[in-house]
Amino acid sequence: MKHYQLIILGSGPAGLTAAIYAARAQLKPLVIAGLESGGQLMLTTDVGNYPGFEHDILGPDLMTNMRKQALRFGTEIIDKDATSVDFSKRPLAITANGGERFSSDAVIIATGASARWLELPSEQRLRGKGVSSCATCDGFFFKGQDVAVAGGGDTAMEDATFLTKFAKSVTILVRKPEVRASKIMFERARKNPKIAWRYNTIVTEVLGENRVSGVRLKGADTGRDEVLNVQGLFVAIGHKPNTEIFRGHLDLDKKGYVVVSDTTRTSVAGVFVAGDVQDFRYRQAVTAAGSGCMAALDAEKYLHTIHQT
Ligand code: NDP
Repeated sequence: MKHYQLIILGSGPAGLTAAIYAARAQLKPLVIAGLESGGQLMLTTDVGNYPGFEHDILGPDLMTNMRKQALRFGTEIIDKDATSVDFSKRPLAITANGGERFSSDAVIIATGASARWLELPSEQRLRGKGVSSCATCDGFFFKGQDVAVAGGGDTAMEDATFLTKFAKSVTILVRKPEVRASKIMFERARKNPKIAWRYNTIVTEVLGENRVSGVRLKGADTGRDEVLNVQGLFVAIGHKPNTEIFRGHLDLDKKGYVVVSDTTRTSVAGVFVAGDVQDFRYRQAVTAAGSGCMAALDAEKYLHTIHQT
């Protein structure tokens, strides 16, 4: 079993920023990058809101750059998934797929979150071709167009409100007779004249060959089929933190996000957390990167303390 001072789980902006800081602090970290290395930015196209780039940068290019930067300072990266952890004893233990085992004095969890999808074959086929799960990332591309947002939570309200900056119209598709969103977010969306509402409405198919041309809807109460002509569908039905392997090893909240006790500390000493796996609110590349930096600084301080005692 190979031993490290610090192992970082995940290779999105949070994990790789933590790696850059930890490597520069001479901690020689190992990043267990995940089989889908690079995180959610690998699924986006142009990123225009990451500071430091005057012109848009492609999400995958941004992640490739971060990875090279982490490697340049001496990070070791393996493209495997962590499949189990044991945080009950010291050193902390991690197993990756293939059965390879590692031990570490400290761990940073940066395994991110995954957008929930409607799980329609047509939705998956048209992802990046008019179907998106990130209004902040992709809203800009729908200037003057008609779009729909599926979902009835705060994310759907926020996304729809944001999208009215660009789109000609935004129709919110809510599967129940009422929204789940908080009153304040709902009211804000309700007062927006560009937003239309369809309740009791289920998306059954996304239409279009190479680009979205509409959505097929079914009335949950009436069973009636209809087609809504839109050029974009934003799926805002929640996110799922990637925390399955930590269940029973760390405190998670009722939605499965890692509970943070103080800045980036978790319920286990020596285990820190950064990025979307603990953040359901901001979920931006830049906030994830910022928290990755914080976790690395906290881990460095922790390692310094335990090595002194
Ligand atoms: P939520 O879980 O709160 O809401 C998900 C919504 O999607 C619900 O309306 C749900 O419907 C609907 N939904 C789920 N699955 C499907 C499906 N298969 N088909 C159609 N609709 C579906 O997720 P959010 O991402 O909206 O919010 C997550 C958390 O983040 C919340 O705590 C929220 O308050 C918070 N948040 C806060 C913000 C802020 O304060 N600025 C901004 C964004 C989020 P149903 O009700 O029928 O289950």
